[in-house]
Amino acid sequence: MALKSVISIDMGGTKVLASIINKEEGIIARLKVPTNPDSDGNSYVDTLASTINGIMDKSNMKEKHIEAVCLGVPGSVNPYTGVIDLAPNIGLKNFNIKEKLQNKISLPVLVENDVNLGALGIKYFGVGKNASDMLAVFIGTGIGGGLILNGKIYRGSSFVAGEIGHILVDKDGPVCGCGNRGCFETIASRTAVVNRITDDIKNGKQSKLTAKVKSGQRIKSKALSNALEVGDKVVTKRISEACDVIGGVLASQANFMNFNLIVLGGGMIEAMDSFMIPRIRDAFNNHVLKASAKDLKIVPSKLGDDAAIWGGIALAEEFLGVEL
Ligand SMILES: [Zn+2]
Repeated sequence: MALKSVISIDMGGTKVLASIINKEEGIIARLKVPTNPDSDGNSYVDTLASTINGIMDKSNMKEKHIEAVCLGVPGSVNPYTGVIDLAPNIGLKNFNIKEKLQNKISLPVLVENDVNLGALGIKYFGVGKNASDMLAVFIGTGIGGGLILNGKIYRGSSFVAGEIGHILVDKDGPVCGCGNRGCFETIASRTAVVNRITDDIKNGKQSKLTAKVKSGQRIKSKALSNALEVGDKVVTKRISEACDVIGGVLASQANFMNFNLIVLGGGMIEAMDSFMIPRIRDAFNNHVLKASAKDLKIVPSKLGDDAAIWGGIALAEEFLGVEL
């Protein structure tokens, strides 16, 4: 029998990214389709269905070549019922995405939180292959986390386990998107770091990013990385501070859970891993219990945005009981 593939879909607020992947060839096709920002759930589902048909046409594939469609949801979702509890970036709340899409296509539809899919991809196809107890942390616009315990994804009692970005770091810190104050992601995400750099520049500090800040341009990880490379003092200081906090939070998690692997990913780590990871390890070593750190490694993901796409294969194997 021919090797079967999975269609993995990254559900974004402005676009849907579909990929066809299988274990032997990796990612064999990609298709990006914009979504209507004013659309409701039903039109989002229409976009998903047409994207699935579109990528199959583009790669000359028929349904018999595909095992399942796996949706990566940017929010909380029950993978068994398919109900999205809340996904603010795509404007969906209490919405059964699995049932709605299943009414439009005949391929099995599976759903999972996108960060959990990333952790699954790393565990089964990336640097996590030999890890039984793994924490994956993705640092970018926000901070997300996924847990592998005893070799399996751990979803928690209401499918929101791994929300490391909302661990309390400073009770007097900035207000978080979740409504609380001083969550980890308000201190150490790219958004948080950029906010601090912006304040520094507005307070008169000199930086390579001054022009960008003054013109109101969005500062991405690449711009931070470029500024680091030329030794920009403001950027170096603020990213180093973030690394200290990240290392401290990871040490707390290691003390609590005794992981054997912590994997770091996300846009900020990908752009600056050679600067950030050694500093994160230093801060980690300052805070972790010796016994907790004995068999633990901290490593970069290396799979980038493709981690969640690979996770689709692991999800299909888990939910459909197949070996792909
Ligand atoms: Zn929060």
